[in-house]
Amino acid sequence: MVTHSPSDDRLVLMRGDLTKVSADALVNAANSSLLGGGGVDGAIHRAAGPELLAECRTLNGCPTGEARITGAYRLPARHVIHTVGPVWRGGSQGERETLARCYRRVLELVARHGLRSVAFPSISTGAYGFPIAEAAPIALREMRAALARQPQLERVTVVLFSASDLEVYQRALAEAGTPA
Ligand code: ADP
Repeated sequence: MVTHSPSDDRLVLMRGDLTKVSADALVNAANSSLLGGGGVDGAIHRAAGPELLAECRTLNGCPTGEARITGAYRLPARHVIHTVGPVWRGGSQGERETLARCYRRVLELVARHGLRSVAFPSISTGAYGFPIAEAAPIALREMRAALARQPQLERVTVVLFSASDLEVYQRALAEAGTPA
């Protein structure tokens, strides 16, 4: 079951496990070491196999708000794009802007590599504590902006792990689709 954006049917939401989704690129909510962690990062490294960690070791980490591209190895994708989301510290430390920059940097790499499809998890809303109701409209706004600029982009998917997270994104998508 997927939910399409009312304003652009290339933007879709689904519940599931990101590591099972096929796309040109899967996005990893990584930490700045790029050497693996818990949550979706751990799942991606487990599914990709040790070659992913070996490639990540050559990158010397990634600053918060930036993104790096690697191969995807055993994942059903061509690339993994790793981005480091902000840790939520109450919202006064530029967390919203940093989260938006993560999505923009990933989508810039998608454009630069001519990728046609990309699947995202909900960056920063797990261990990093960003409130998902605030994160969802930021994520969707950046995805819609990229879709408007990138005609080669056929599909942007957000893969939500839980039914309640999916509902939050569905609500944000419906609100964003309503003309002001
Ligand atoms: P962060 O450190 O950026 O908060 P987490 O991995 O802790 O990253 O959480 C980000 C989101 O990814 C959370 O909503 C979490 O439930 C979700 N998540 C965890 N594993 C998966 C998976 N295999 N597929 C999709 N989403 C996942």
